[in-house]
Amino acid sequence: MRLSILAVAAVLSVTSIATAQTPAQTPAQPPSSSEPKWDYVGKYGPVNWGRLDPSYKACSAGKEQSPIDIRGAHLNKALQPIEFHYMAGSITLENNGHTVVAHVRPGSYIVVDGTRYELEQFHFHHPAEEAVKGRISDMVVHLLHKSADGKLAVIAVRFNEDRGNPNTVLSALWPSLPKAGQTTEIKDMINPGGLLPADKGYWTYTGSLTVPPCTEGVRWFVFEQELSLSRNQLRTFGVLFPMNARPLQDTHGRKVEANE
Ligand SMILES: [Zn+2]
Repeated sequence: MRLSILAVAAVLSVTSIATAQTPAQTPAQPPSSSEPKWDYVGKYGPVNWGRLDPSYKACSAGKEQSPIDIRGAHLNKALQPIEFHYMAGSITLENNGHTVVAHVRPGSYIVVDGTRYELEQFHFHHPAEEAVKGRISDMVVHLLHKSADGKLAVIAVRFNEDRGNPNTVLSALWPSLPKAGQTTEIKDMINPGGLLPADKGYWTYTGSLTVPPCTEGVRWFVFEQELSLSRNQLRTFGVLFPMNARPLQDTHGRKVEANE
């Protein structure tokens, strides 16, 4: 049943690509020859990432890896709300073969505990990577931020098809999703704030990048409220990336805190 749905999705997607205006595609920066090949399945898949290159060691040896199953969160009323200072701007979409990365113009940032983190890019995983009490959503967006001294903070917003309403930011980006190795320019002003739920309650824990080199010391904020996307939006991304999610990682006793 699932296979036949995917087959229909593929046909629908090809049809919509053929009839939609084709955005200008330009080759992305070729991947640095020093970046070893990795994938989500097979011999280059997640269980072997740590062996593919010495710089990927944390993927297997790390004790603070992401994603995790979020459960048993402790309420910490001292946690402050995240301050959002996102602004609209043009976006460059890059298909790096692992996901579609939306590179934003400088100027959007968050403030957490007095530290300012600049929004650098956001990207998508299908299905979502983080689980909540064992349940994994249809898709997730990871908004990647960096502080002046190089610390990373990622905000995760999960998407579900349940109610089927399209997300307006996805509606603006999806017609221009680039093919592997390509980039597209979105000239329209897009505000990444359209990827945030109304309720800003979050779970937070210390983890890692979920792709090689699996760098640790990343501050994660997973929003409790999920957003809706349409069936077509989910299918369109799923045709490009049928599965680009790292499996759940051991918490090794890490605590998850909730701000409300
Ligand atoms: Zn990610």
